[in-house]
Order: sequence, then C-alpha cells, then structure tokens
Amino acid sequence: MLNACSEHKPKAVTKKPTPIDTLIINGTAYDGINLEAQTIDVAICGSDICGIYRQGQHNVQAKNIIDARGKIVSPGFIDPHTHTLEELYSNDKNHNLNYLTQGVTSVVNGNDGEGPVDVAKTALELEANGIGTNVALLVGHGSIREQVMGRAQRYASAEELKEMSQLLTQAMEAGALGLSSGLYYVPGSFANTEEVITLAKIASKYNGIYDTHLRDESTFNIGFLAALDEAIHIADTADIHLHLAHIKALGVDVWGQSSQAIEKINQAQAKGVSISADQYPWLASGTKLRSAVMPKWVMADSKQAFHQRLNDVSLADKLRAEIQENVRRRGGPTSLLITAFKDSELVGLNLAEVAKMRQQDAVTTAIELVQEGEVRVASFNMSPTDVEAFMIQPWVVTSSDGTNGHPRKFASFPQKYQQYAIKKGLLTLGEFINKSSGQTANLLGLKNRGQLTEGYKADIIIFDADNFSPNADFSNWNKYSSGIEQVWLNGQNVIKDGKYQQKLAGKFVH
Ligand SMILES: [Zn+2]
Repeated sequence: MLNACSEHKPKAVTKKPTPIDTLIINGTAYDGINLEAQTIDVAICGSDICGIYRQGQHNVQAKNIIDARGKIVSPGFIDPHTHTLEELYSNDKNHNLNYLTQGVTSVVNGNDGEGPVDVAKTALELEANGIGTNVALLVGHGSIREQVMGRAQRYASAEELKEMSQLLTQAMEAGALGLSSGLYYVPGSFANTEEVITLAKIASKYNGIYDTHLRDESTFNIGFLAALDEAIHIADTADIHLHLAHIKALGVDVWGQSSQAIEKINQAQAKGVSISADQYPWLASGTKLRSAVMPKWVMADSKQAFHQRLNDVSLADKLRAEIQENVRRRGGPTSLLITAFKDSELVGLNLAEVAKMRQQDAVTTAIELVQEGEVRVASFNMSPTDVEAFMIQPWVVTSSDGTNGHPRKFASFPQKYQQYAIKKGLLTLGEFINKSSGQTANLLGLKNRGQLTEGYKADIIIFDADNFSPNADFSNWNKYSSGIEQVWLNGQNVIKDGKYQQKLAGKFVH
C-alpha cells in the first residue's frame, strides 16, 4: 500500500541529475577571458567541457569529483612558438612532459620559417605516433623556399614563386594556422619583401596569420625598427594578422628601442593593422653559435661551401671583421654562454673562457668551434627594461621558443609567473593566465581551446599558485617545473596529483 502521506505532499520537481565524467569544484577559476577569478565549477564529459556552474549550483552526477579548494583552475596554456617536432616524433619524448609540467597543453610548431611543408602528412604521422600535447602547425616560408630553390642566394623567379604558392596553398588547406617566416635566417634572408607579401596573401585567403622572426632584431642588416616596418608593411599589404615572434631588442646597439617599437605597433594598430607578439621571459636568447655570429653570405648554398669559405684566406679579413662585429653587438665574448656541445667540457663556459683556454682570440675560437660540430649558445643580449616594457603590452602573449641548452624549454611559463607576475608585480594572475591561454588561442585562430567555456575542449590545469615554479636555469636547463597538480588534455587526466599518467592524448589542432 502506498504511504498516504506522500501522496498528498506536492512533489518536488527534481530533474534527474545529468551524468558526467568529472566535476571540478571549489577552485579559484580563471576562465581565460575574464581578469578576475570566477566562482565556478567545471564539468567534463568525454573530451569536452560540458557545463560551467556557479559553485554548488549544479545538478550532475559525476564519476569523479575533484576538490580544487585553494587551487587555481585554468585553461591549459598554449605556447605559440616551440621547436618540439623532433621530440613529438620520437618514441621516448613524445609525451612532451617538459611542456605539460609548465601547464602547456597545446604547442605550435613550424615557426621561424622552418618546419615541414607537408602539413597533412605531418599531422597524420604525429597523431599516429601518439603525442603528449596538442600540436598546431604553421608552414615555414624558409622550408617552402628551400624545397623549390634550395639555399640559393637570390630572389625567386616568377615560376619559383608560383611553385611556392602552390605548396603554401596545400599546407593551408591541410590546416596550417598560417605562414611563418625567418627572414633573419638562411634561406629566408635571401627573399625580398615582395616574395613574402605574395605568399602572405595566400595565407590570408585561408584566414591564416603571418608569424615572423624579423629580418633583424638588432643591427645585423636593416636594423630592428626597419625590420618591424617591413613586417607591418607585409601584413598591411597582404591584409593579414601580423604576429611578431619572440619580440625583443637584441644587442647593445638597440637597447631602449622597445619604446619606439611599441609606438610603431600602436600606430599601425590604430590604422587598422591587426598585430600581436609573443615573448619568452628571459634575458638571453638561445641559438646556434653559427647563427649568432656568422655572416649570412658565409652560410649560403651548403655546409661544404660554408666550411670552404671559413678557411679561404682571401676572405679571412672580411670574415673576421664581421664576426668580431656580431660578437660585439651581442655584448662581447663573455655574453655568449655555451649550453650544448658534443665536447661537454666546454658546456658552461663562455666564448671568452674557451678562447683563453685555447690561448687564442674569440674570433678564431668561434671559427674553430662551428667547424667542430653544432654549438648551442645562450646569448645574453636583452635589457631588463625592454623585456618588461614589451611584457606589459596588451598585445603580447607568453611563449617559450624552447630549444636545447636554454631553460626556456622547461620553465618559461612558471618563470614568467614567478619572476614577472609575483616578484615584480607587472602582471596580475588573471593577466598572466589570459596571456597564456585565451588570448593566444584567439590570435592563432584556434577554435574551442584556451577558455573554460561550455562546448570547448577540456584542456584544463589545476595548480597551486605558491608552488608553481621553475626549476631550470642556465646551468641546469632541463629540469622539470613544479606545481602543476592536474592536467586534462582533451578530457583525459594526463597529469593526476602531480604524476604523469603515461597517456598520449594530444591531437593535431587547427
Ligand atoms: Zn625565432
């Protein structure tokens, strides 16, 4: 018999709770859009964020509940400038753990005009190999140029440009985010502005961006400010979003030029050119010794031609003078620190110290070293004033430009947070997070990533604001960062309670 009482009571209209996979409750949530923390709970179903609720105001039945009280909940970070393809293709480093432990869930590759031309093939191969973070690709102008005309030091013919245009079209159709250039590097440096405009117009047709490592960040050729003018002119003419890679004023001759650069960018934006930039939070750049100090004409054509020129006595005076000048610009031989080399005894020494050891001058030492193998250097060439002036611009986002031998590969995001947000107070936590997630997704045109928003992909991190710290530095460049406690990548909990779960949940994204 039914209970008489209950029949007379008005029935509460209780909807059956919605079943979900995971509910993150009680956290201090930054959603990648707002600067202030939000009091929200976040629901994950499969690979997606399937609900955002005011804290406690949900009606869901979760398989897992994560109590994030006292912790920061944020969209996974997006790094718009990395060099991670080799590792993502490997069998032992494809987890990309040095990025996951920085809170980074998506990395861009193909920057600086480099990277694979065949984007469709690369995307398929990466997903088949299994990758620990999402990856997006730019297609490199230098790579396209090299495929069509090698490392020839001349302008492209109409026929060659047509061929380059076809390769770019294929890459954009396969999901490239845009065209990247490295006009400082061989072979990009051999191209004129018109060549890049022609290609940028194609990327624009596909709503891609133009991401550039400027022709000059210093006084190597046309000068930093003229190189910035060139980039703005390319973007304006091709009607494309301009993204300036790792913005900096490189070397003593251009220190202080951040203010003129910022003014130029603000003026161009006011005239309607869409511009953004990324920046890594360190005073040293990282590169190969040969790229840092050798004149471009010495490196044209082939490695063999390069070594021949280095030993050609008729070129010696010109060569030595130019190397000397390049070393001076970068702050002198003590400012070039060897960070990776097959002869590990030299690692940790600067160029001046190696020269002293070999009882010869720095120029002779540099010429010897580049012939002995690949030498990577940290080049201490930035002024703190310029770095900080760029960092606080609303159009600047976080990146790593990670390479071996430089702590930026393991620690850029926590370094920026600890050094510049907490210690120097240049950014609030909300600004730091937006500049590392939502804003980056926007400028790259990445849909459904970078925000805690219903319907977006569940790339989510939880960290302890006090413990999120870099451990790598210039003497220990490859130490994992600490403080990231949880990472969901496409809805999979790949870092759980600070431990990597051996899951390769990354996708090719575009
Ligand atoms: Zn670069």
